[in-house]
Amino acid sequence: MEQVKIIVAGPRGKMGTEALKLMEETEHFQLVACIDRKHNGEYIKDINGLPELEAKIYTDAEEALQSEDADVLVDLTTPETGFLHAKLALEHNVRPVVGTTGFTAEQLAELERLSQEKDLGVVIAPNFAVGAVLMMQFAKWAAKYFPDVEIIERHHDQKLDAPSGTAVKTAELIQEVREAKKQGHEKEQETIEGARGADFDGMHIHSVRLPGLIAHQEVVFGATGQTLTIKHDTYHRQSFMSGVKLAVDSVQKVNTFVYGLENLLE
Ligand code: NAP
Repeated sequence: MEQVKIIVAGPRGKMGTEALKLMEETEHFQLVACIDRKHNGEYIKDINGLPELEAKIYTDAEEALQSEDADVLVDLTTPETGFLHAKLALEHNVRPVVGTTGFTAEQLAELERLSQEKDLGVVIAPNFAVGAVLMMQFAKWAAKYFPDVEIIERHHDQKLDAPSGTAVKTAELIQEVREAKKQGHEKEQETIEGARGADFDGMHIHSVRLPGLIAHQEVVFGATGQTLTIKHDTYHRQSFMSGVKLAVDSVQKVNTFVYGLENLLE
């Protein structure tokens, strides 16, 4: 297989460290550099706890993209930074694979526009876990028959964005097939603000943040005399890495904007 030259942004993060292991274990992946907030000019192998990889660290993303010959930028940082990195990558003809969540609809539209302008592939995947992607697809299927639905997502308490990218993506998929409907009693009132969660096209999304959790979601459908619950749990961040691998391999074969790993699964 042809070598893929990759830059990883956020290498010390929880997802980033797993991505470095993936780079180390995958024969045709070559980590050429990393973008981090710290350790400018040092090498990944010199940072305590990171793998023995000969990749230079840059704190300036633009410098990294100018100095290194890369095919793909994998971003696992924060929403604001991830968006800037994806834009910069496209401007330097490097294909972004973005796992970072929390992009606004405007940011997604801007990246889609740039992808078209540059005729370059982009993959934005709010969830790289294949099980979670299936959970979203099953939820879309069920929503055709059960228009009353609430999404409960649970994540670790260090997560910056709420609701999660997966919950937003699930709601968007459901919206494609569900007739617009305001759920609950028409006279319903919150006696404490936020009690009913976020309102997305009349369905509600609830975000739970607790230490000990990683990434979990339940999509609960209700109809007369029955409920249907579709649930996915992530117990280890390794579960995301087969999706990262698929996205990196796929982004090179497309010149379109791909939002969601489900679009890469057969
Ligand atoms: P994390 O542990 O906080 O890691 C984020 C890393 O990004 C940190 O090392 C942070 O550095 C670094 N960073 C922040 N600003 C930066 C900048 N300007 N330049 C370079 N690096 C910067 O978070 P995580 O759990 O790994 O998650 C990262 C992102 O992936 C989040 O958006 C999360 O929601 C998302 N996520 C996606 C999936 C998926 O399947 N798509 C799964 C899990 C998580 P400091 O430590 O110095 O702040």
